[in-house]
Amino acid sequence: MKFGFDIDDTLIQLRQHAFHLYNQKLNKQIDLEHFHGLKTLEIHEPFGLTAKEGGQLWNSLAEEIYFTECPPFPHAVEVLNSLVKAGHEIYYITARDKQYGDRTKEWLIKNGFPVDEEKFYCGMKDEEKIKIIQDLKLDYYFDDKPAVLETLLELPLKVFAIDNSYNKHVKTSRLTSWSDLEELIK
Ligand SMILES: [Mg+2]
Repeated sequence: MKFGFDIDDTLIQLRQHAFHLYNQKLNKQIDLEHFHGLKTLEIHEPFGLTAKEGGQLWNSLAEEIYFTECPPFPHAVEVLNSLVKAGHEIYYITARDKQYGDRTKEWLIKNGFPVDEEKFYCGMKDEEKIKIIQDLKLDYYFDDKPAVLETLLELPLKVFAIDNSYNKHVKTSRLTSWSDLEELIK
């Protein structure tokens, strides 16, 4: 089977990692409770920033957000490795800017994810993911972002939302823990 994965906030806890960095950089101590209640992908609001200021802060910290110690979600590394061992194909499909592509691959490998150079796609817009997913004829695809998930609902593959406070309204199957995956694909 062919499995496709978004990376940020699907396999790794990027927003929460960025939230900690925002606290550090802005010298604040905003509690994680605010993070868990966010109804948006963007995390600037509890820091009292406008969308524009939030975007600027994210961009100025992008290197640090992407390439430091962002923790994977529990069991994600182990589950992907066991899929490869069982003979499945793993594809990564991330909207991260192309300039970060090679380093993102390196980062994934360093953190234990199984990466095949030829099965890594990056730098597309949200609405372009559908084309890649169709062309690859994936059997399963996992993402957290409503704008992406909503484009995939009519496709004949199994789409899972990584359950989060900002995607509850998307009517698709959900994954709340990577430890559930093997049960779900039986
Ligand atoms: Mg994502």
